[in-house]
Amino acid sequence: MRPQPTIPGAGEARGQVASITRESYRAIELYAPDRAPCRIDLSDNTNCWGVAPAVEEAIRDASVPTLTRYPNLYAASLKDALGRYLGVGAERIVTGCGSDDILDSAIRAFAEPGDVVACPDPSFAMIPIFARMNGLMPVTVPLTASLDIHADAMLATDARIIYVCSPNNPTGASLSRAAIERVIERSTGIVIIDEAYAEFADVDLSPLAIANERVLVTRTMSKAFGLAGLRIGYATGAPALVAEVEKSRGPYKVSALAERAALAALGDGLAWARDRVAEAIANRQRLTAALEARGLSPIRSDANFVLVPVADANARARHMRTLGVAVRPFERMAPVTDALRATSGSALRISIGPWEMIEAALAALDATENVA
Ligand code: PMP
Repeated sequence: MRPQPTIPGAGEARGQVASITRESYRAIELYAPDRAPCRIDLSDNTNCWGVAPAVEEAIRDASVPTLTRYPNLYAASLKDALGRYLGVGAERIVTGCGSDDILDSAIRAFAEPGDVVACPDPSFAMIPIFARMNGLMPVTVPLTASLDIHADAMLATDARIIYVCSPNNPTGASLSRAAIERVIERSTGIVIIDEAYAEFADVDLSPLAIANERVLVTRTMSKAFGLAGLRIGYATGAPALVAEVEKSRGPYKVSALAERAALAALGDGLAWARDRVAEAIANRQRLTAALEARGLSPIRSDANFVLVPVADANARARHMRTLGVAVRPFERMAPVTDALRATSGSALRISIGPWEMIEAALAALDATENVA
């Protein structure tokens, strides 16, 4: 008689799966911040104003083949448009499914398993995760007290890839050009400059990727252009460098609908995005002043969010959610400034949106006075 197959219980199945999957993967947790829907969502630095009317129109008028056919392999039309936006040739552009995809693909393309990826702390939380998922070793280097990178300490890690982010997430502070240039000059590997929030800083570091063949500058359409839901990221660098990232990311990563919307955003929608960026910058200044008027010490931001050190950020954010406002709490961040030391690394990151949303956030924050 044939043995009867048995259906293992959930626990048993997990045990079996664990024994046949990568050991180094088990310590990696699913990235899952609280994304429960909330009336006013200021938690993820997306564009709270929406999208340009030209983008809505492009989506509405999309043809059926846009849905039924595969998209262009490597989003050729989008590369042309992004090249014009940055003032470089399309051969210097690579696109991806969000800049997350670009960063992941670049890390995979530029380092062998076991190599070191150096990144500042605090900075974009996904970098150590992407490094570990690709078999690399993340090494974090605390920011200086002025929230700049510690160029020499980063160089001393002997990293194959040095990642820096300017303006930095979650501090919002720009890095000094001198520190970035020192890292570029003295490092032997690749330098990735993440400029997800460049538009809000009115600084463009992409020329550094033209001047140096080891520099990749990554950007996104999730923030200034309001296309986070469509997942469009890109990077610029030497043609040979972006070609390696393109190989690593693989074909069809930007959907046809996303490419269509992005072309509209970079065309007729461009003035709309520029106007919203100007509004975000004005509201960022107003929010910073309003927080200071409350005796708090928000960090001067060049991005579309403000980080404000407060005690018990998790409890406050939970309470603010019950009042219909989502912000992003951080606890146990590297306490690199006096204000962060005073709260043991606890802080709230508030995305900038229309002023009515900011007012609601301030009212909700005031209501957390006795929560902590
Ligand atoms: N880099 C930084 C610094 C970010 O804050 C984010 C989004 N939170 C990303 C990259 C990824 O953005 P996306 O994948 O939407 O382009």
